[in-house]
Amino acid sequence: MKNKPIIAGNWKMNKSNLEAKSFVSDIQNRILDKGDTKVIFCPPFTSLFTIVDTLKNSQFSVGAQNVHYEPHGAYTGEISIDMLASIGAKYVIIGHSERRHIFGESDAFINKKIIAVNKSNLIPIFCIGETLEQRNSGLTGKILKDQIEFGLKKIDSIDPDKFILAYEPVWAIGTGETASESQVEEAHLKIKLYLKTLFGSKGEQVPILYGGSVNEKNARPLINIDGVSGFLIGGASLKIDSFCEIINTVKKIKR
Ligand code: PEP
Repeated sequence: MKNKPIIAGNWKMNKSNLEAKSFVSDIQNRILDKGDTKVIFCPPFTSLFTIVDTLKNSQFSVGAQNVHYEPHGAYTGEISIDMLASIGAKYVIIGHSERRHIFGESDAFINKKIIAVNKSNLIPIFCIGETLEQRNSGLTGKILKDQIEFGLKKIDSIDPDKFILAYEPVWAIGTGETASESQVEEAHLKIKLYLKTLFGSKGEQVPILYGGSVNEKNARPLINIDGVSGFLIGGASLKIDSFCEIINTVKKIKR
């Protein structure tokens, strides 16, 4: 792995502003040296500013969990790219399976967000992944290819330093069930190939995170899989001990 492994914590709809502040302060005190890792906290919108402020002199980064593609206007409840950038967020999760499945976000809708974010300084963490039914029907490769092709439609070029992809099998998110090492490796190699087909060597260099019930016990074997550039973590990113142990595990891996 040429680049630093990435560990992104997706807090979803968890933690008040006060809880968020004390959580990242504790992590800062415990992880004095992140080693060669890039750690990104993705709290709810309500804590974004507080966390950016708390971490301002640290090596930790902050991302949002969602964004709208329009710059402003009558979109009640939505947040724009400039709003996120103006408070110091650097990353944004796009296409998370909960946005796709609970809130009905389509590939076309996700594509509009990716296009808008790609023109900005925010870095997208673009999530894709198959459902269990799709996997059991032998459709994993097709689904991943479609999500990449439709999600990245009208994008001509990609900068691997400004784009992150996360492979998150839907059946492994929040279920305690992790994809096997061979399933992860196979999916990551396919994704790399699809990105290479679309964007050449730049596409091939895009970091690909694995997400789906990553914890302190499975982090070591998972980070050692060929093609895994880091993790997108939900549940375990909310627990100080687990998250710190994952960071410590990943930072010790020498490649
Ligand atoms: C996620 O929400 O992106 C995720 C991977 O969740 P969990 O780690 O809880 O499976």
